[in-house]
Amino acid sequence: MRCEFPALQQPSIFLILLVMIKTEKIKVKTAGNCDIVNITEQVSKAIGQSDITNGTVTLFNVGSTAGITTTEYEPGLVNYDIAAAFEKIAPRNARYEHEKTWHDDNGHSHVRASVLGPSLSVPVIDGQMTLGTWQQIILVDFDTRPRTRTIICQIIGE
Ligand code: ZN
Repeated sequence: MRCEFPALQQPSIFLILLVMIKTEKIKVKTAGNCDIVNITEQVSKAIGQSDITNGTVTLFNVGSTAGITTTEYEPGLVNYDIAAAFEKIAPRNARYEHEKTWHDDNGHSHVRASVLGPSLSVPVIDGQMTLGTWQQIILVDFDTRPRTRTIICQIIGE
């Protein structure tokens, strides 16, 4: 049988990829002001409910005042150290041009979220994320008020 695609007419080896994509939305309520939420369970559950056992999970926070990373989810880091580090990077009471634009109070929130970044990719092997024993996935909400966050959780693989 002749193949319709010219590039595939020459080689005698055909590579067949059966890639699946599963997209979920994870919703979390936060208190704002550097509130850190452990979302590892929800991401694990989404992977478990997909039929994908090997690939990558990508997480993306929708919105420009929160970010996603990993940490050891213990009280020192979660309640003090991470917030203290971001207070040095973008102090709450510094002057922000952004606040002149919109007359709001969250210039530092936007700067912190940009520094942290909105997304994270984690390899998935044999149905499990390749996280370390003390490594959890966290959403850090830098906004100045409580928010309900939407995190896109997209699993790509086989
Ligand atoms: Zn703003």
